[in-house]
Formats: sequence, C-alpha cells, structure tokens
Amino acid sequence: MTPVWSQLANLAAALAFIFALKGLSTPKTARLGNRVGAIGATAAVGIIFFAESNLKHLTLILVAIGIGTLIGFIAARKVQMTQMPQMVALFNGVGGGAAMAVSSIEFLRAGESENFIALLATVFTIVIGSVSFTGSIVTFMKLQELMTSRPVVLPLGRFITIGTASATIFMAIYLFVNPANWALWTLVGLSLALGILFVLPVGGADVPIVISLLNAFTGLSVAASGYVLDNVLLIVAGTLVGASGTLLTQLMAKAMGRPLTSTLFGAFTAKATKVSGEVQDRPVKSAGPNDIAIMLTYASKVIIVPGYGLAVAQAQQSLRELVDLLISKGVEVEYAIHPVAGRMPGHMNVLLAEADVPYEQLKEMDEINSEFANTSVAVVVGANDVVNPAARTHKDSPIYGMPILNADQAEQVVFMKRSMRPGFAGVENELLFNDKTTLLFGDAKDSLSKVVAAVKNM
Ligand code: NDP
Repeated sequence: MTPVWSQLANLAAALAFIFALKGLSTPKTARLGNRVGAIGATAAVGIIFFAESNLKHLTLILVAIGIGTLIGFIAARKVQMTQMPQMVALFNGVGGGAAMAVSSIEFLRAGESENFIALLATVFTIVIGSVSFTGSIVTFMKLQELMTSRPVVLPLGRFITIGTASATIFMAIYLFVNPANWALWTLVGLSLALGILFVLPVGGADVPIVISLLNAFTGLSVAASGYVLDNVLLIVAGTLVGASGTLLTQLMAKAMGRPLTSTLFGAFTAKATKVSGEVQDRPVKSAGPNDIAIMLTYASKVIIVPGYGLAVAQAQQSLRELVDLLISKGVEVEYAIHPVAGRMPGHMNVLLAEADVPYEQLKEMDEINSEFANTSVAVVVGANDVVNPAARTHKDSPIYGMPILNADQAEQVVFMKRSMRPGFAGVENELLFNDKTTLLFGDAKDSLSKVVAAVKNM
C-alpha cells in the first residue's frame, strides 16, 4: 500500500507538470513553467527513494542518476540555440528507449505470470518506445547533418516498410499467445527497424511534424510503462506528453497544409523524389551593403523574413537595430513569421524575443501574406525554404504543398545568405534567380552590421 504522504506528493508533482505546461504556453511565463516542471520531475524521482521500502541496487541507481544528471547538465549548458532541436530529438529518443528497456526487463522478470493488461502495456511500450528511439536518432542525425536531411527512399522501400510493419504486428500478437523471450527480442528488433524505416523517407516540411509526433509517441510509451511498473506519476506525465505532443502535431500539420495521415503513413507510400541540391551556375544579381541601405531607406514598406540562418549568425540584435533605424526614418517595417522557420516550432519568436523585438511587429504567415503585394522590399535574412515558390509548383519537391511566405510578390526581394546553397530541404530556390531579387552575400550578422552602418551614414 502506497503511503498517503507519497500519494499527496505524487499529486503535487502531477500538478507541477500541468502548471509547467501552462507556463510554457507563453514566452512571458515560460521560464517559470520550466522551473516548476523541473521541480516536479526532481520531486517525482525523490519520492521513490522514500516511499519504496525495499529498494535494491541503491549504489547502482545513484551512480546512474549521477551520470545522467552530469550529462544533462553539461549538454544543456553547452548546447547552442540552433542545436536545441537535435538535443530535444536525442532526449526524446532516450525517453522512448528507456521505456522500452524497462518494460522488456519487467517482462523478463515476470515471465508468463504477467497478466493480460500488463502484457498489453508491455507490448505497446516496446513497439512505440522502440520506434520513437530509433526514429528520434535518425531525426537527430538529419538535423545534425550527420546524414542527408532530404527524404531517403530505399529501393523497394515501401515494400520493406510494409513487410516490417506487418511482421511487427504479427510478433506483437504472437507475444500474447506465447510470451517467450525470443519473441520479445524479435519484437524489439523489428520495432527498432520500423523506427528507422518510418523516418528515413521524411524530408522537407514533414520533419518538424515527425519530431512532434515522435515526442507524442515517447509520452504514450512512458505512460504505458507506468502501468507496467504500477507508477501513477509516470502514467500522468506520459499522458501529458502524449496529449500535448498529439495536439502540437495536429497544429503543425494543419499549419503546413499536410494531412496528418501523410506523416503517419508517408513511409508506406514513399516514392523517390527528384531533389536537385547542387549549386547551380546561373547568373544572379548581387549588391553591396550600400546599395541595400539605399534600397531600404527609400522604401515605403519593408517586410523582414527571418529564417534559420539568422539563428546561426546570432544576428537578431543587428536585425533589430536595422529595423529600428528604418522605422525612425519613416519606413513601415514588419516581421513575417513562418510556422516552421528555423529548426523548431516558435524558433523565430524566441530568437526575436531575445532581442526584445516588440511582439506586435511579428506577424504570423496568414496575417501578413496578403501584404507582400503592397510591399517595396522583402528582406529574407537567413531563410530559404519558407519563401521557395517550388512549394507551390513542383509536385516532385519534398516541400510541395507547404504554404510559403509570399516574398516573391514584393516589388523587390533582398536575400542575405552566405552562398547559393539550398536550405534544409535541399531544394533549389528559383526566387534567387528572379529579376527582382538582389543577393547580399555574407554571414547575416556581418551583412546586417554593414547595412546598419551604411544607413546611419545616409
Ligand atoms: P532553411 O534551412 O531553408 O535556409 C536557411 C538559409 O540560411 C540557408 O539558405 C543558408 O544559406 C542560410 N544561412 C545559414 N547560415 C547563415 C549565416 N550564418 N548567415 C546568413 N545566412 C545563413 O531555413 P528556413 O528557416 O527558411 O526553413 C526552415 C526549414 O527547416 C524548413 O525546411 C523546415 O521544414 C525545416 N525544419 C523546421 C523545423 C521547425 O520546427 N521549425 C524543424 C526541423 C526542420 P547559406 O548556407 O548559403 O548561407
């Protein structure tokens, strides 16, 4: 029987998780929400030590906690803002993997004596936790550029995926009928393979959606492992992650104009797509900072399109300085925020908030898209895919169907980037070659500082 104090402490920790989620829903209270969540998680671990009377292997447990804490602390301190999504993917995968490992060990311990519901929860955790584990590792490798970020379609890929999925379902059912150890290991192996096959063909606009989906998977597998371990707090925390991850996935899929089924079942229908990532040797119009400064100062309306490169260059302060200068000279300036600009949901909002950009200057895609047609200059700073017209026209492209910012409708377009290299999806951007486009080559921070200096001298 669980002591009353620990039931109450568990309830307090569960409430802390709910308050944390609420806090994280707006930038103003996000830090507080994060702290409350961390306190809840620390309490959740601590409760076990005092509530469990016959805790075995205490030294091993403490050493494992020590190692985990050290890795987490160093990783969180060292991670760059632009590497945050990779870290989230990795931690998310580790969560799914841990749930899978714990359930497998419980299965081996309990053997045939496991009751039907516990067996159901075990099988669910193994399949979903394994898919989340290897799927997240592939996502990590894509984001860290340890492998191509474009869709990878193996020869006969969809048949291999369908075959692996069918074998996984068969083994899951078999494990109910005959809970043998070999069946468990076969199921683990198949599910791990399924995770890889599930994520390999994902590219372009589907990557953010799949990250969120894997996060929801981890939550659900942790909740099921909570049932296996008879731990209410794991069930609550896992369900919260599963539910919020599912909602975020739905919201992102809607914002990206993708039916959720295309992310869920994309691996079963994937066909090879033509992606030309080579840098093309075609003429483009480039200019220096002084020319751009003149263009911007004489504009009546400017829309800034920030993207991943702004975060890489850490140029948010310089960008804000330029915008403030232009506004002081009577130019109307706004920022256009695409839902998947950068490498994580809300990346641009967080980045610009760091530079204290007033929130009312940030306009979501739906709100600002009709304004580009009345805009003198669209300044694309370190963005690429989110303004790539191929998303409207090229059916073969991995970003086809993704709504884009209508930068091409502005009178003039300025791109600040370092080279002619494509963006995350690896797709050539025709807008770079458009007559109305001017390129200012260089690191975004350096380019922006030079433009700011030139505007000041005018
Ligand atoms: P992109 O990745 O399409 O383009 C970024 C551009 O920034 C590149 O063209 C690059 O060109 C340029 N760049 C990089 N570093 C610098 C620098 N230091 N200075 C100047 N320019 C730089 O970014 P977008 O924001 O347009 O699009 C986001 C993409 O990421 C989408 O495809 C989205 O699906 C994907 N994604 C988004 C996630 C999310 O949740 N937001 C998660 C995972 C993926 P160059 O190298 O020539 O400088």
